[in-house]
Amino acid sequence: MDISEQGKKCPGCNDDIGLWAIVKAPLPNKIKCPHCKTKIEYENTGWWLVVVSTIIYISVICIVAYQVEFAFTTKRYILSTLSALQLGLIIFVICMTLGLLVEFVIASYLRSNKKLIIQKKA
Ligand SMILES: [Zn+2]
Repeated sequence: MDISEQGKKCPGCNDDIGLWAIVKAPLPNKIKCPHCKTKIEYENTGWWLVVVSTIIYISVICIVAYQVEFAFTTKRYILSTLSALQLGLIIFVICMTLGLLVEFVIASYLRSNKKLIIQKKA
């Protein structure tokens, strides 16, 4: 298999697993091929990727929290028109969007840099 395809194609059925299969996996070593349902994982991406994505995600949350805090102190007049529920919902949506974005970036990175292998039985 071409080296650039190693992270994109399922080692079981040789079909492109797509970006979404990686994004929706709870962990990068818990991917399931959308075509043949084989459990696959990225080679040599165990704990460090989880650590890296957690760090990125926490940083993103911190930036959002900081921005919200900033907005609270400078744009009080806008926020005073929102209820606590609406505000919570907005923060939730922002965090989800950014979290998803982070996941997509990581998934793209894995697709072009890592190799998919069939998961070893734990
Ligand atoms: Zn497959």
